[in-house]
Amino acid sequence: MVDLSSFLTDNPYFSAGFGLLGVGAGVAVLRQGARRGADLMRRQLLVSMEIPSHDKSYQWVLAWLSRRGAETIRVADSGANISWMHRRIAKAVLPRHMAVQTSYKQHDNGSVSTNFTMVPGQGKHVFYFDGTFIQVDRQRNAKMIDIQSAAPFETVTLTTLSRDRRIFSDILAEAREHALAQNEGRTVLYTSFGPEWRPFGLPRKRRLLESVILDRGVSEGIVDDVRDFISNGKWYDDRGIPYRRGYLLYGPPGSGKTSFIQALAGELGYNICILNLSERGLTDDRLNHLLTVAPERSLVLLEDIDAAFNRGRQQSEQAAYQQSMVTFSGLLNALDGVASSDERIIFMTTNHIERLDPALIRPGRVDTKVYLGNATPHQICKMFTRFYGNEYANLAQQFACALEGYSVSTAQLQGHFVVHKRGAQAAVDHASALIDPHTPQ
Ligand code: ADP
Repeated sequence: MVDLSSFLTDNPYFSAGFGLLGVGAGVAVLRQGARRGADLMRRQLLVSMEIPSHDKSYQWVLAWLSRRGAETIRVADSGANISWMHRRIAKAVLPRHMAVQTSYKQHDNGSVSTNFTMVPGQGKHVFYFDGTFIQVDRQRNAKMIDIQSAAPFETVTLTTLSRDRRIFSDILAEAREHALAQNEGRTVLYTSFGPEWRPFGLPRKRRLLESVILDRGVSEGIVDDVRDFISNGKWYDDRGIPYRRGYLLYGPPGSGKTSFIQALAGELGYNICILNLSERGLTDDRLNHLLTVAPERSLVLLEDIDAAFNRGRQQSEQAAYQQSMVTFSGLLNALDGVASSDERIIFMTTNHIERLDPALIRPGRVDTKVYLGNATPHQICKMFTRFYGNEYANLAQQFACALEGYSVSTAQLQGHFVVHKRGAQAAVDHASALIDPHTPQ
């Protein structure tokens, strides 16, 4: 009988097989060890912070990074404050791959305005901050959808050496400050973009309330009402009443409806979300969703509300041009909304209140209706002295007398004063230019 153990050890094929097996196992162990070692090193040496796209700081950090990226390139090029080696690394790793974010708006007259913002694109970037290199990894997960915006889920991950972990809070703080400073003293206009609100253009300088001249006490009345509403959240909450308030400003065109809402937002430190109900592709669901997700501290403005539902004639005549799919009942539902404790302030404007369905402007949907009409003598005098100075109060009276009994809008007055910007007397002398002989009051 053959001894099995001596057969195995003596047989050259078997021993070579065992040898190979041993080498293979050794390599596998080494590889695993190296992987574990790398993992351990990464865990010990690196630290990262993930910011998901639904987090508020996401856009702040992206905007901050785009500014930072430009600075890093400048620093890398000039070499200021960083070593030769760091400069080499910075130049080697900066991909300079940017993505563009465009805000776009088509105006009623057909013209289009656009605004571009450069933000870091998908992939990995490296930037230099406070003496440290930080890797930014912007990734999109096409399989996951952000429920709020219905956009693909994205994350930005910042990675750096763990000894520098405090840098993350510095970055977040700086990004937030940068975002807030951009809007300080400014009003952000949001427009709808698919199912979400996006800032349109750069934040605008606040319009002063005093620059919109309404009839005696009108402006103060609305401001007091809104302030009272804003400061009484608990009162609504305690009584289980939906915390919302609707305002309707109505009256002829050019009476300052839109300007007043802008000035009011500036006065309150609020932003404005403008929604055009005739917008292409707007559906009941989207409208409802948009009203629910309006940014905090913002006034929602539905302009020319009559135009969207005064389409009976248009629908048959130009069905092909019908764009919006919002139904009247859809609008009522959206205004009524689900009872939520979030504050909601809606302003609607119209030039034709008589065309509005009473259901739309009943209390609960519209709590306060304010008429802004053509210029009254009080407004005429006030606008005159605001343009030319209080020393022209007498001329202001003369001017108001000359226009007495005629319908002149405050927008027309503004145009007239701009034409005669250098002469108060000339403005009075040419007051007749404002009078349309066919339409005396
Ligand atoms: P509306 O929304 O009522 O049609 P706008 O607010 O768009 O009117 O006003 C058009 C222009 O006329 C703006 O440039 C605005 O500055 C000016 N204007 C209109 N009404 C007033 C007002 N009451 N006080 C100051 N400016 C006014």
